[in-house]
Amino acid sequence: MDFNDSPLEAAFRADARAFLAENAAAQEGANTGPDADHEAVVAASRRWQRLLADSGWGAIMWAEQYGGRGLGPIEQVVWNEELARAGITETTLMGGIAMAGPTIIAYGNDEQKSRFLEPTLRGELMWCQLFSEPSAGSDLAGLRTRAERDGDQWVINGQKVWSTFADHADWGFLIARTDPSLPKRKGLSYFLVDMKTPGIEVRPLRDMSGGVHFNEVFLDDVRVPDANRLGEQGQGWPIARTTLLHERMSIGSASRMFSFDEVLAHLRENIPAPDQLLRDRLAGLYAWSRSLELLNARVNTKLGRGEDPTAEASVMKLAIAEIFECAADVMMRAEGRAALTGEGKAQHRFYFAPGLRIGGGTDEVQRNIIAEQVLGLPREEDPWADTPFEDLPAGS
Ligand SMILES: Cc1cc2nc3c(=O)[nH]c(=O)nc-3n(C[C@H](O)[C@H](O)[C@H](O)COP(=O)(O)OP(=O)(O)OC[C@H]3O[C@@H](n4cnc5c(N)ncnc54)[C@H](O)[C@@H]3O)c2cc1C
Repeated sequence: MDFNDSPLEAAFRADARAFLAENAAAQEGANTGPDADHEAVVAASRRWQRLLADSGWGAIMWAEQYGGRGLGPIEQVVWNEELARAGITETTLMGGIAMAGPTIIAYGNDEQKSRFLEPTLRGELMWCQLFSEPSAGSDLAGLRTRAERDGDQWVINGQKVWSTFADHADWGFLIARTDPSLPKRKGLSYFLVDMKTPGIEVRPLRDMSGGVHFNEVFLDDVRVPDANRLGEQGQGWPIARTTLLHERMSIGSASRMFSFDEVLAHLRENIPAPDQLLRDRLAGLYAWSRSLELLNARVNTKLGRGEDPTAEASVMKLAIAEIFECAADVMMRAEGRAALTGEGKAQHRFYFAPGLRIGGGTDEVQRNIIAEQVLGLPREEDPWADTPFEDLPAGS
């Protein structure tokens, strides 16, 4: 396992650090947090993204012909680490940069690439993910939203849920069922949808932190031109998996979610002499976070060798959720009464932490992947995989 940057990675890191030393202040206002005014956060994120795009840092993994740098996942990890080091945790536009963009690059036609990629890179288009439904989350392929062809348009009806930032997004990437006579993974298609299209109603959902981060999205006879279908009709499932892989890679970047030094500083600020219980929890957290760094190094080493780190990514996603929750707990305990009244800065984290166990694939789903790919246990069978969707019994 390689613990250090290669000479090329070290040079790239120095370049990134120098850019951020000079420009990080321009990002002010773009981090989300407690009581954040999302309107202002989105505006600040768009400004910051434009600066990044103009300076060649907008989307380093996109190919150069689309305004990126054509770099690999290792450089992305280094860039993320340097962003975290500069205190930049903004993810408002990640739906476009890390998910929609790479999917359009992989499956879009020339017209779609020239229409969407540049404005996405420059932060002019903000995207939301319209995948999950009330009865389709882990079993996403069981989704019920329908798209029916009408001339050169599609008419979409259904409901999506947990759609992060759908209340601010300009466009959404959506999967819908276009052929219910096929098995559930075969009859899906992928669409790019203008969120201002008549028939789309976005209803914000308030989460337990009191904030509005995600939404329900109702689609009532929403007309989408066929020109906005991504890939072939019926190809929605493999395209969605491409989007989800990119999502997991962006969540898996531990360094942007958690900093042990920040927790330690918070503890020192609030409790000069922590009791044994808190010291014990902090030591546990340190051990976890050090293990995560080593796991990160292992993933980087695999990536560097051109190997697939899917199983490690699942372990990392599990570990990040655990560590983030433990860190929030330590910070809450350190704050004491202020944590309960919400005056401190830990409460928002504490409420946000459980969501990490769910979003981007739940803990249990990650464990299934680990069971199959690391422990070699038999694959979980889907008894309905080959049954036409329209013949599935309700709830299967
Ligand atoms: C913060 C956050 C942001 C999100 N943002 C978006 C977004 O922008 N767009 C979007 O489309 N979705 C989004 N989601 C939704 C997310 O993808 C789903 O919540 C997730 O896939 C789980 O689906 P579900 O909620 O329907 O739970 P279910 O799939 O119904 O799961 C319920 C429980 O059953 C368990 N379970 C299910 N299947 C299995 C299995 N095969 N083996 C073992 N256990 C199983 C699960 O682990 C879970 O504990 C977001 C969720 C969160 C928390």
